[in-house]
Amino acid sequence: KDGHTFWSNLSATLVRDPQTDALVETIVIVQDVSERKLIEAALEQSEERYRLLAESTKDMIMRVAPDGRRTYVSPAAYALTGYTPQELMAEPRINIAYPDDVSASVEAFHKAMASGKNYFHVEQRILHKDGHDLWVSLSFTLVRDPQTGALVELIGIVQDITERQQAQETLKQALEKEHQLNLMKTRFVSTASHEFRTPLSVILSSTETLLNYRAKMDEQQVTSRLNKIVQQTLFMNSIMEDVLQLARIQTGRFDFRPEQGDFSAFCKEIIEDFATQPDQQGRVRAVITPTPVRLAFDQRLMRHVLNNLISNALKYSPAEKPIYFDLITESNQVTITIRDEGFGIPPDDLERLFEPFYRAKNVAHIEGTGLGLSITYEAVVLHGGTIKAESTEGVGTTFTVTLPL
Ligand code: ATP
Ligand code: MG
Repeated sequence: KDGHTFWSNLSATLVRDPQTDALVETIVIVQDVSERKLIEAALEQSEERYRLLAESTKDMIMRVAPDGRRTYVSPAAYALTGYTPQELMAEPRINIAYPDDVSASVEAFHKAMASGKNYFHVEQRILHKDGHDLWVSLSFTLVRDPQTGALVELIGIVQDITERQQAQETLKQALEKEHQLNLMKTRFVSTASHEFRTPLSVILSSTETLLNYRAKMDEQQVTSRLNKIVQQTLFMNSIMEDVLQLARIQTGRFDFRPEQGDFSAFCKEIIEDFATQPDQQGRVRAVITPTPVRLAFDQRLMRHVLNNLISNALKYSPAEKPIYFDLITESNQVTITIRDEGFGIPPDDLERLFEPFYRAKNVAHIEGTGLGLSITYEAVVLHGGTIKAESTEGVGTTFTVTLPL
């Protein structure tokens, strides 16, 4: 009457004469439904908004029925998993969880159900259609019937966190490396100060003697003191050199210069050097193939390797025991073994020998810095080879080095 229009629901019932079937009257019910129409329109609009939201985000959004069927999957699924939403909604269902991680979300779901929570979150890997795996974060909201509390559906957001995970992993590794470096520094400071104490005190006492009593000393006594100073300075210098050498190799700043040469002749030469040292005469028994062994190797590094392995064998076995040096060539590698019948290495120490400054407990009375084998190890690895130690305490030790030809 006032001129406005409204939506209505009209139901009409036609009443007919039972005999003639002629229309008698029509009963009409007019119901005002404008409010419902408004709500429907608003709902449609809001649904549209949420659909847009769901379809435009990079995260994959899905609705899952209580029986596990996916009733909605947003288009982002394709970029994330390689499957289209249709493929993911089809039955039989495609399982995208990484085999080892399947239980993570299932467990979280059951826990949420049991504790009456409306939300759960897990981080796990999923399997992309092309076979690679990626880390995702899964956040699920449990929608329940307000009356009965029964589960109606789950709404999930799946987010790619591979990059974050990788960044975390890199960070963890960097921290671990930093930690190792710190440990090494600490050990270095304590060992270096300990190692430097003896030569420093010898240098100091010799210098003091020279300063105070030079006038009363003969030429030979003066020379002997000066020699001691030189010797101890050289020793300190060699420790410093070793440390710097190791640091250079470990930080990739070593100028690695392999050159073709006869490796068997090189070994013979080094063993001869040992034989000429007065206290080592005759101790090294060597079996080396007479034929030349052509190999590309860095002379400075290999000299260190052989010197350290031979001097260790000599140093850590009684003076009357021989040590055995063998060089064997196979089709694709050279194997060197250096065996002694000395003190051996306690099993606990065996696996840590190649760490810088690490020394076994049973040889504390013999001088050394524990740097030799760590440089040896790095040198062998630079040549693409391997090194291993076998030892029985009180029986002897064998070091085996292989180098590819
Ligand atoms: P450096 O070689 O720097 O003078 P070092 O000989 O103590 O000192 P490495 O050559 O690195 O250091 O050896 C590390 C440790 O390994 C030694 O201190 C010793 O405990 C053990 N070791 C090495 N070779 C032998 C061996 N042939 N027999 C018994 N122990 C050994
Ligand atoms: Mg050594």
